[in-house]
Amino acid sequence: MSSDSSEILFISDLHLTADRPFIIELFKRFINERAIYAEALYILGDFFEYWIGDDDPADELNTVFEAFDTLKEHDVPVYFMHGNRDFLIGQQFADKTHCQLISEPKHITVNDQNIVLLHGDSLCTHDIQYQEFKKQVRSESWQQDFTAKTLDERHAIIQSLRQSSKTETAEKQDEIMDVSQEAVMQLFQSENSRFIIHGHTHRPYIHEVMIDNKIPATRIVLGDWYKEGSLLSVKYQPDTSGIKYQLESFS
Ligand code: MN
Repeated sequence: MSSDSSEILFISDLHLTADRPFIIELFKRFINERAIYAEALYILGDFFEYWIGDDDPADELNTVFEAFDTLKEHDVPVYFMHGNRDFLIGQQFADKTHCQLISEPKHITVNDQNIVLLHGDSLCTHDIQYQEFKKQVRSESWQQDFTAKTLDERHAIIQSLRQSSKTETAEKQDEIMDVSQEAVMQLFQSENSRFIIHGHTHRPYIHEVMIDNKIPATRIVLGDWYKEGSLLSVKYQPDTSGIKYQLESFS
């Protein structure tokens, strides 16, 4: 991390699937036009629309895997965090894509700034139904049961989960789907950080907030890749201990 012109890139919520080839093409362009020049790329979850296990060859996503080869050729380290859609990504996937799996909350330091990274769903504490569901599917027993099924069975289960999640989401009030401010404040405190980056809510924004009404802090929410791309670029601020950051769309 020496060059002060180089950027660190953060993306999340691409929801890549063979059903949306346009976004796969956009991601490949993002890799070739932008990410190959970066100092590092952080993927903060929901990279895939869903992932049923590393034993699925997912051949329909081969061009996505090739994009990771390109990053490796350019010596760009890639850090991959699970989202609520692709939490079954494992070491086999990481080896294939030359990524390093990271778990949340992940602390990184950029020019003395202590930054906390997470997917973001853990902050949505008002959505009790979702948090219960999460507890279930993140349990060892559920995951063992699920990955013991055939690929076809797993695909079928995911399709029905996606369908019921769509119905439930449509019925939930807006504020239930967003982060809870209490959870955000607690995270700033417990992680002893003044800078948080996450995705999940699909509400791209830079929130400048105050901790305890006196300590300025920043929470940056990455956008989804439904219609266009969304990325955060973080650069060193030369001659200071600060950072420069910009939330951008990519199209
Ligand atoms: Mn998510």
